[in-house]
Amino acid sequence: MRATHTDIDSYVDDNGKRLIRKSLSLNVTLRKEYISRIPRWRRPVVGYIFSFLLVGAALLGTLFIEQMLQEHFHFLGSLFSVAVLFAALFWGVGPALLTLLLSTLALDYFFIPPPHQFTFYTLDSVLQLAPFIATGLIIALITAQRERARLQTLATEQELASYAEDLEATNEQLKEANEMKDRFLSIASHELKTPITTIRGQAQLAMRRIAKQRNPPPELESMRTTLEKIDNQSGRLTALIDELLDVSQIRAGKLELHKKDYDIVDICREVIEDEHLLTDRTITLEAPSTPLKANVDRDRIVQVLVNLISNAVKYSSEETTVQVTVFRNDDKVVIQVRDQGKGIAREQQKHIFEMFYRTPDAQSSSKRGLGLGLAITKDIVERHNGRISFESEPGKGSTFVVELPLQ
Ligand code: ADP
Repeated sequence: MRATHTDIDSYVDDNGKRLIRKSLSLNVTLRKEYISRIPRWRRPVVGYIFSFLLVGAALLGTLFIEQMLQEHFHFLGSLFSVAVLFAALFWGVGPALLTLLLSTLALDYFFIPPPHQFTFYTLDSVLQLAPFIATGLIIALITAQRERARLQTLATEQELASYAEDLEATNEQLKEANEMKDRFLSIASHELKTPITTIRGQAQLAMRRIAKQRNPPPELESMRTTLEKIDNQSGRLTALIDELLDVSQIRAGKLELHKKDYDIVDICREVIEDEHLLTDRTITLEAPSTPLKANVDRDRIVQVLVNLISNAVKYSSEETTVQVTVFRNDDKVVIQVRDQGKGIAREQQKHIFEMFYRTPDAQSSSKRGLGLGLAITKDIVERHNGRISFESEPGKGSTFVVELPLQ
């Protein structure tokens, strides 16, 4: 059995140190675990047997020294103290106490007069033995503290290991949930796209047929308006689904680029024309007359420009102009999209490239969106080894800047 963090009760002492309060059963478990980790020869049972041998060796050593000196040995207890120290050091507090007890009896029996008699109950013997017993007890006490500290460390180690296991399991669950969500996003987007494409195709076909009629009756005219609405809305839906598909590809790291050399000024001009036709807004372009060629995925760079220009149009009032500037800066082409809209508040600016983030202003407005355009834009630009940044001041407008390496 191993201690888990739920078995361990911890508290903080007056100095702010975290301590562990262990129950009796936990203490027993920890002790067993501790013993199982130390080498066999250092287990307490071996220590109890060695206590007798150590005391025997100390006794023989002391007797031998006395013989050699031919007179009374003044440091009688010294070899016995070494025996206690050995027992404490290698086998812990239990064997140390047994060694102390055996040593006291040996000292009393062999060295405290009258010889070969136990007199430890007399005051005289007690006084003579007291310094040795005190030394032994201090050794045992220090050993007990060391053992306690080791058990405490072991408890903390096990607690940490159990937290780590829990964290890993939770992490694994989160990863699975995340993968499932991504799979769902990808499957749902694919499945939605097919019927919507069919609906849109059918609506456009019907509109073309109506357009071919020379003098269409009034009910066909009203049907055309309905079909136009279906076409518009299904177009919007397709755009939203495309964004979701892009997100699922980005998250799976599967967004592929098909790069070729293109003139960035040319691409900007085309996108601006399309956006102007679509929104009827004034969008100006300031660009050099010479081409600025870069190795890019054309469709993806078009997507970047559409996102930035349509945002500039979407988040500014109709009478204002959107300005696009393209220029060369060293080995980079720089594209700036400037609007005179509401701008973005400072505290919201750091979230602007996050997936699904929309400013509270945008959320409460009639401007629709999933909050994915800028996240996708950033990913595309960075996959081209480029950089995207922006400056925005509430009330004055925003400028988004894309830098792409030139060919
Ligand atoms: P959305 O689909 O909401 O437009 P985006 O990822 O394109 O998503 O933009 C995220 C948010 O950033 C928008 O909801 C809007 O709040 C803010 N935003 C983006 N471009 C501009 C801009 N030109 N002016 C003001 N706010 C902007």
